[in-house]
Amino acid sequence: MEFDYEVLIIGGGPAGLSAAMSLGRLSRTALVCDDNRPRNAPSTHVNNFPSQDGIHPAEWRKKTRKDLEKYKTIGFFEGAVLSVHKVDQGFVAQLSSGATRNFKKVILAYGIQDKLLSAPGFKELWGKSIFHCPFCHGFEVRGASLGLIANGELAAHGLPMIYGLSKDLILFTNGKANLSEDLQETLRGRNVEVIEEPIDHLIYEGEVLKVVVLIDGQKKERDALFVAPIFPFQSKSPIGESLGCEKTELGFYKVGERGETTVKGVFAAGDNMTMMQSVLLACASGVAAAAGVIFSLVSEDFHG
Ligand SMILES: Cc1cc2nc3c(=O)[nH]c(=O)nc-3n(C[C@H](O)[C@H](O)[C@H](O)COP(=O)(O)OP(=O)(O)OC[C@H]3O[C@@H](n4cnc5c(N)ncnc54)[C@H](O)[C@@H]3O)c2cc1C
Repeated sequence: MEFDYEVLIIGGGPAGLSAAMSLGRLSRTALVCDDNRPRNAPSTHVNNFPSQDGIHPAEWRKKTRKDLEKYKTIGFFEGAVLSVHKVDQGFVAQLSSGATRNFKKVILAYGIQDKLLSAPGFKELWGKSIFHCPFCHGFEVRGASLGLIANGELAAHGLPMIYGLSKDLILFTNGKANLSEDLQETLRGRNVEVIEEPIDHLIYEGEVLKVVVLIDGQKKERDALFVAPIFPFQSKSPIGESLGCEKTELGFYKVGERGETTVKGVFAAGDNMTMMQSVLLACASGVAAAAGVIFSLVSEDFHG
């Protein structure tokens, strides 16, 4: 079998680009394919990234692509990978350009698709006044009037974190509350209101949340909302599943220490394989997956 590149990297976000850098530094050939649907596109800042704290996400990608220019073994395809099939010695990928390309290994670095509430205003404010992660956005809204949309164990997990940002906090369970007696007592003691009435829509000005309107018409003024994830996480592409890669019940690819999935030769990196989701950690897992790929390739070269 003739290989076009040794490695197919599906996704040119933090995970995919970091994997490409490691592969380039070891002079391995790889094709990074990206169809430009970054998870953090609604946001104007990448926060909590040392040396680049607050940089625009598009600027971060541009700079990283620039860093990669010196690694001539790395190629780019601006488009989607439509499918990947396992064959005897490797993998055959179908690209959205209509081309078919052959590879020895695959890195799934295509991230996840956020599931947003359908309430009007939610999509418009996502990444602006509604956030998934206090590490990414908490500093900017510390001390503000906050809401947490969560229920059950996720509420128990998220409340201490968001309360740590602001004592002016409302818990929206968006339906019947499922909270332990202990937690309810703690919330009463901390003056954290619990609202079960589902959210109808959000009132906002520009990109700034003003009011949360409930189904019964009640209005709650809030500056920003945090929202717990909706499990299972959904990958941005079904390619891993079509190859037979197993997932955890939370929706992440099962991987070993160096990112290999349950399918030999297929690695995963970034948000699709961990709950620890950030640009920096996606970079780290991209580097780890690339290391796994490189160990396989050099070992196959060496031992034949
Ligand atoms: C609103 C918001 C704001 C955030 N802010 C921050 C922050 O400030 N700091 C921080 O550390 N983290 C932040 N995050 C989290 C961060 O964006 C993710 O952890 C990180 O982007 C994950 O990187 P990734 O490479 O796994 O996936 P992504 O960045 O999502 O990149 C995956 C890429 O794969 C491409 N792709 C998907 N399928 C295919 C296919 N079939 N063919 C080709 N390409 C494909 C997509 O187009 C995309 O470009 C934020 C997240 C959100 C939702």
